[in-house]
Amino acid sequence: MCGIVGYVGREDCVDILVDGLQKLEYRGYDSAGIAVIQNNQIVVKKTKGRLSDLTEKMKEEGRPKGFCGIGHTRWATHGEPSDINSHPHGNKRISIVHNGIIENYREIKEFLIAQGYGFESETDTETVAKLLDYYYEGDPVQTIINVIKEVRGAYALGIVFRDFPDKVFAVRKDSPLIVGTSENGNFIASDVPAILKYTRDYYLLEQNEIATLSADGVKFCDMYKNEIKKEIQTADWDLDAAEKGGYEHFMLKEINEQPTAIRTTISPRIVDGMPYLEESGMTKEMLKNYRRIFIVACGTAMHAGLVGKYVIEKMARVEVTVDIASEFRYRDPLIQKEDLVILISQSGETADTLAALKLAKERGATTMSVVNVKGSSIARESDIVVYTHAGPEISVASTKAYAVQLSIMYLLAFELAYAKGVISEEECRRLTKELENIPEKIEEILVLKERCQFIASRLVSSESLLYIGRGLDYALSMEGSLKLKEISYIHSESYAAGELKHGTISLITEDMPVIAVATQSDLFEKTLSNIKEVKARGAKVTMICREGTEDDKSVANHLVVLPNMDDVMMPMLALVPMQYIAYYTAVLKGCDVDKPRNLAKSVTVE
Ligand code: GLU
Repeated sequence: MCGIVGYVGREDCVDILVDGLQKLEYRGYDSAGIAVIQNNQIVVKKTKGRLSDLTEKMKEEGRPKGFCGIGHTRWATHGEPSDINSHPHGNKRISIVHNGIIENYREIKEFLIAQGYGFESETDTETVAKLLDYYYEGDPVQTIINVIKEVRGAYALGIVFRDFPDKVFAVRKDSPLIVGTSENGNFIASDVPAILKYTRDYYLLEQNEIATLSADGVKFCDMYKNEIKKEIQTADWDLDAAEKGGYEHFMLKEINEQPTAIRTTISPRIVDGMPYLEESGMTKEMLKNYRRIFIVACGTAMHAGLVGKYVIEKMARVEVTVDIASEFRYRDPLIQKEDLVILISQSGETADTLAALKLAKERGATTMSVVNVKGSSIARESDIVVYTHAGPEISVASTKAYAVQLSIMYLLAFELAYAKGVISEEECRRLTKELENIPEKIEEILVLKERCQFIASRLVSSESLLYIGRGLDYALSMEGSLKLKEISYIHSESYAAGELKHGTISLITEDMPVIAVATQSDLFEKTLSNIKEVKARGAKVTMICREGTEDDKSVANHLVVLPNMDDVMMPMLALVPMQYIAYYTAVLKGCDVDKPRNLAKSVTVE
């Protein structure tokens, strides 16, 4: 998920690799490494930590020298950040760097162990390296073809073979990789910033196309070895824009990365069309025997837990309590050994959540964490870890991490509902399929940005606004409201629509815009009445609803209409316009979107 750089040409490659990896540092990483071909041998240098640790290590152990090499910054997904787990992986004759996740690595590993292969790391990547070795008979491209036929998952791979000391090979599927080209040599990279210093010309590698790079040129072929002619692209971005993939802010980039993040997170957890969390150690038997579930988290992650509560209670009929971590710790919660405590945190380092985890352990409950950063404190200390695979999130305001946290809540709810016999296998399959359809549906919704931009232009001069909704819409609108206030500094509250008339409605004037989330069909009529109540008192209303329910256009001033899905799945779609509205409002106000004032990405203080 992080960075790959490769080079073959007339210059010393170590500087180029390290410099390129530095340009990819913004993507976040936990370890770094390079493999260089020196005097027809593969020399590997790698370490946990920063690129500066790698250069330090090369000062101590000797800096390799050569004209052909590959480099990597790792965002651990399989195995903790450590020297051994760092990339490159391989042996004396093959070395690879990999971004992504190999879903069937266990089967491949078992197969290779039976063939006599040994493994030193815990990574999924090493299985690909050894599988390449297994198939290698002197033809690198054929070897790569054989391997990608067997590998399931997402990969961008940079590969060097000792027998081909002046070539770099590359292939990708579902993880990004480009091939840069210049007079002085050729490059592979996860992203344009890594090569901008040397060239602006590059090719986009498509799914399962194989690139062969030498100092003088680049060749591409498909999985049948047919040569492919590709069109050259020219990067006309400066470095800053290139880091953001051409988007104006990381937040916008990350909103757009949500379909991929969700796919990467759920696909290893769906086996034969059914949810499968057992890999993390949570068996169906365990899951169905918990007395109660507590979900404990802070900020956006807590809001993911709130949606989780609605979905789990509705589907699986198990009681779920959601707590803000800093409250949970001090309210002497009634946790027992028979309970499951779920901790949600993007960074895995949130101090209050970590303290809540320790408390839950002291009381003997089973702890399960949902975190995005491998090997983080919360992941290490909890009994069971379900990693989200959003990749690094740079924008302080969370978007894609929230989306993947929700996906895990859904999988958990479906699995639990099935394990408890509340839903049939057929229903469980149907719902799981719905979840698998979400990324595609989000791709459709991402085009609503102009609509949301317009709505933002109507909100930008407000001092305060209200989000309202009922049921799942209410749980979701908590996050919409937080997103808006944290980055645009407009005061915003989320209110249960039915609760307004018990006090808060006195705030409604024509200066108080209302965003109503109304995607739940069984509650739609009720929410509509609440919208009418606020409209009658002068509020300008934006309604986020689904196709077919927008008929009474006079009800709202502005509409955002989403495609139809099951009620229970609608939050996964409705989150997108809420993020866009927050984003464009902040942009129009000229706020520092990616780094809002007073906020930090990972809150490691209590
Ligand atoms: N899945 C691989 C690992 O954990 C690659 C991670 C990455 O994309 O950096 O080592």
